[in-house]
Amino acid sequence: MSEKVRTRFAPSPTGYMHIGNLRSALYGYLFAMKEKGEFILRIEDTDQNRYVDGATQIIYDTLADAGISYSEGPDKGGPYGPYLQSERKEIYMEYAKKLIEKGAAYYCFCTPERLASMKDTSVADSNGVTRYDKHCLSLTKEEVEANLKAGIPFVIRQNIPPEGKGTYHDMVFGDVTVDYKDMEDGILIKSDGMPTYNFANVVDDHLMHINYVIRGVEYLSSTPKYNLMYDAFGWERPHYMHLSPVMKDAQHKLSKRNGDASYQDLVAKGYVKEAILNYIALLGWAPKDNSEKMTLAEMVEKFSVDGLSKSPSIYDEAKLRWLSGEYMKELSDEEFKKRAQPFFEQSKAYGKYDEDLLVKLLKSRIEIFGEIPAKIDFLEEYDAFDPSLYDNKKQKCNKEVAKAILPKLYEAMKGWEDYSNAALYEALVAFAAAEGVKNGQVLWCLRIAITGASVTPGGASEMAELLGKQRCLDRLQRAISALS
Ligand code: GLU
Repeated sequence: MSEKVRTRFAPSPTGYMHIGNLRSALYGYLFAMKEKGEFILRIEDTDQNRYVDGATQIIYDTLADAGISYSEGPDKGGPYGPYLQSERKEIYMEYAKKLIEKGAAYYCFCTPERLASMKDTSVADSNGVTRYDKHCLSLTKEEVEANLKAGIPFVIRQNIPPEGKGTYHDMVFGDVTVDYKDMEDGILIKSDGMPTYNFANVVDDHLMHINYVIRGVEYLSSTPKYNLMYDAFGWERPHYMHLSPVMKDAQHKLSKRNGDASYQDLVAKGYVKEAILNYIALLGWAPKDNSEKMTLAEMVEKFSVDGLSKSPSIYDEAKLRWLSGEYMKELSDEEFKKRAQPFFEQSKAYGKYDEDLLVKLLKSRIEIFGEIPAKIDFLEEYDAFDPSLYDNKKQKCNKEVAKAILPKLYEAMKGWEDYSNAALYEALVAFAAAEGVKNGQVLWCLRIAITGASVTPGGASEMAELLGKQRCLDRLQRAISALS
């Protein structure tokens, strides 16, 4: 590749960042970085009906959070700006007029009524689709001038050749050919003067020197239309890479409209963000060495177009969860504590226990931060519990054993000063030996007595350390009275 690679991410600000969108951004970034090129951000905000307040900020924040950096964009500036389409209105009009001069587009003054009536009068194609009948293409220059002068509302349409085929090579899907007769003279400039995507993407990609267009497969078959415009302008066509869809299951696309997970939803559920990005990368791309767990830098290193899949990929939250667990184990205690904070705050136990101890207990036991409240709420739910919890065949434990052990253990524990896990464990084992009972019996009985729960993140000594001496003794006392 001799020319410098330039790719772009061109999202529409419509709300949270959907998984498929973030994947397009990521692949655009990976390809550009791999080729030592440039990755830029362009915000496609010309469809005022779809615009959601604050959504542009969400795009900036998500990319920053994910580590996908761009060298040009609305918030960064750059030589080919503005990068916000709503600020480029005049540019589109200027180029639409050029296209009209070249015969590749034309003014259309058809009223909504006429367009609606076409549905009854014009001939539908074999798929039952009615297309615009090129009515306004036959207007003379003078008629057009007069209409414009009279202020009659208009749109500008692309003039698609009535016959012939458009072919191009897609880097993922191979050669794509579309019959022009299957295409409509689509609108390039709407009656409000704003461009449609179909026009703006061509003008912007050219003016912003984008030579590799990486985007969703939904644009695969409309690309020949765009190529007609590149050709009419005499511009070099970019290379294209269309990406197969991300599916929820075999039939349904993963989509924001169906309420499927966005990047923000996954972060809110407590997935480790590096795992989210890593997982998204694998939705439609497999590195040659089949690596699964990769940092962003490793993804850049391993990225190659022939690893991109033509077939749809199915989003598998269980796999994402597993990957999140793998990243979770690698977080430093300090980082874990910082990221876990909002989830600690959701727990009843928040602020009542030593957070450093909680970090140690939880880090290897959870896959997503969202598990935290349920894992530690039990600490504050201690109350009368069913004594059958003492029953444990493997540990040779039951209510009677507990009744025999706990009062003595209570007396012993009153005298212990060091309530750190290691010291407690040693003391408990020594206590079992002195009493001539099994370690398991002491540990099981104690853990049940002080937590009232059969499943806890950590054993007896860890739970006792977390609760601290006073809470342990109080709970032991309560457990003992409940047994008598
Ligand atoms: N704004 C378009 C979208 O969000 C961009 C498609 C493209 O990358 O060209 O679908």
